[in-house]
Amino acid sequence: MAGYDVIVIGAGAAGMMCAGVASQRGRRVAILDHAKSPGEKIRISGGGRCNFTNRNASPAQFVSANPRFCISALSRYTQHDFIALVERHGIAYHEKTLGQLFCDGSAQQVIDLLLAEMGDAELRLSTTVEQVERTPGGFSLNLSGDEEMRCRSLVIATGGKSIPKMGASDFGYRVAGQFGLDIVPMRPALVPLTFDAALLKRLNALSGVAVQARVRHGRTSFEEALLFTHRGLSGPVILQISSYWREGDEIQVSLLPGQDAFALLRAAKAGHGRQEPQTFLSTLLPRRLAKDIVDAQGGAGNLADLSDAKLRVLADALNDWRIVPSGSEGYRTAEVTAGGVDTKGLNSATMEAKAVPGLYFIGEVVDVTGWLGGYNFQWAWSSGWCAGKVVS
Ligand SMILES: Cc1cc2nc3c(=O)[nH]c(=O)nc-3n(C[C@H](O)[C@H](O)[C@H](O)COP(=O)(O)OP(=O)(O)OC[C@H]3O[C@@H](n4cnc5c(N)ncnc54)[C@H](O)[C@@H]3O)c2cc1C
Repeated sequence: MAGYDVIVIGAGAAGMMCAGVASQRGRRVAILDHAKSPGEKIRISGGGRCNFTNRNASPAQFVSANPRFCISALSRYTQHDFIALVERHGIAYHEKTLGQLFCDGSAQQVIDLLLAEMGDAELRLSTTVEQVERTPGGFSLNLSGDEEMRCRSLVIATGGKSIPKMGASDFGYRVAGQFGLDIVPMRPALVPLTFDAALLKRLNALSGVAVQARVRHGRTSFEEALLFTHRGLSGPVILQISSYWREGDEIQVSLLPGQDAFALLRAAKAGHGRQEPQTFLSTLLPRRLAKDIVDAQGGAGNLADLSDAKLRVLADALNDWRIVPSGSEGYRTAEVTAGGVDTKGLNSATMEAKAVPGLYFIGEVVDVTGWLGGYNFQWAWSSGWCAGKVVS
């Protein structure tokens, strides 16, 4: 039977960071994964270039039942620490937009960085853990094939439920439940939203149209690109708001963010009354979208023919389009899982379960979800580093 100081389950972003830090502290570390290769989500992230952090990362960009939980980890291991690590490994990178940092080359460079940092840690792939048990000195793991491994500290870094075909599993949540930790209900996040059949019928012709938009849910709003799809809405602005949206909720969309559509329409009516509203709106929006809005709101005729009340209806469709999405595309396409291991049961500086000394939860399995833009990896690095620094 093999004995270790630390066993990390999950060789993804958080697990590899933790294994590296613990190994550099001289701990005997094993890191297990049921996949054939480590860091599969890193490999496909950021369109293959890995948006590995965000220059502007702060606790404000994270969603959790306890928004203060992430403060400690994010301030102890910051985006600047990870950027310095990337630079030490000679990885060239660039800022795309809104502080998002990507590799110039391939996401594989980030995986190679983590593998190099892991040093002497023993990486065991294609390994399935069947059972975890508490022992007097720590934990015992039963692996498939009747093998047993033991450790003093056990780190759960098995990620969320998104993209099951890439090896995502509910293992971490089950271990949390086994040891009496609460789970904040989980839901797909950073995910496209879908329409019901009636709305789809109307908007199907817009599939592929992209436009800059502001989307609001309650008091939260984002302004980025919105994309009409053959299922509903996608694009960064929709992925962002999806982390706040719940089944049955309404979202409000402005297709002309920062512009007063009513004032624009009235000015156009005064200046070019013989123009059709669709022609005028095509100067502000993609033509197909302008046509759909005018058709749906019954805005036929010239601008001069439209009363202010009619212009108001058109303006509301542009600045204040209210929709209740029928659902989301689910874990199949969601970038992350919101909810997860309730932070109430964890120490925010170390990620150790308060009631189970020696058991740690890091990364996406924890109820901390970042916005789109490199924030989720930053949470993986920060939480993984904090646990790596203390595991014994
Ligand atoms: C398509 C896509 C693109 C993304 N792009 C970005 C991006 O550019 N920037 C960003 O910040 N975030 C991005 N994300 C989110 C980011 O990938 C995750 O938040 C991050 O990988 C979470 O790290 P983690 O270590 O907690 O989990 P993961 O990286 O998911 O690692 C979990 C590991 O645990 C293993 N595992 C699961 N169950 C078991 C089990 N039962 N036994 C053994 N091993 C198990 C898995 O095989 C996996 O290797 C993206 C996500 C997706 C799906």
